[in-house]
Amino acid sequence: MFQLLIQEMHSERTEIPLASEGENMKIWYEAVGEVRGSCGHRHRTAKAADRCCENDQRAIEIAYPSTYPTRAYSDRRVKKFVETDGVVEVQDLNDIEKEQLYGSAF
Ligand SMILES: [Zn+2]
Repeated sequence: MFQLLIQEMHSERTEIPLASEGENMKIWYEAVGEVRGSCGHRHRTAKAADRCCENDQRAIEIAYPSTYPTRAYSDRRVKKFVETDGVVEVQDLNDIEKEQLYGSAF
């Protein structure tokens, strides 16, 4: 029990897989947008999915150069996927994950 607690505290800082993850539970992150759809990856960390969002933004800027006042942008945002016993739930990031990505002033 004590070790589990240590692992959880540790995982918040270093983004190793969450201690709650196990045989019947899988957690991953995707870059998802209503317009752009999902990136199709199963990122291990929110940070990696966020980088995927940034890559999509760059790809769009190259494909659709900005012409003032219009600017093409990617609507992909990081979503957390939690699969428990085969049932997948899509979640927004929690405050800890947001803070890791965007700093304390998200
Ligand atoms: Zn991706």
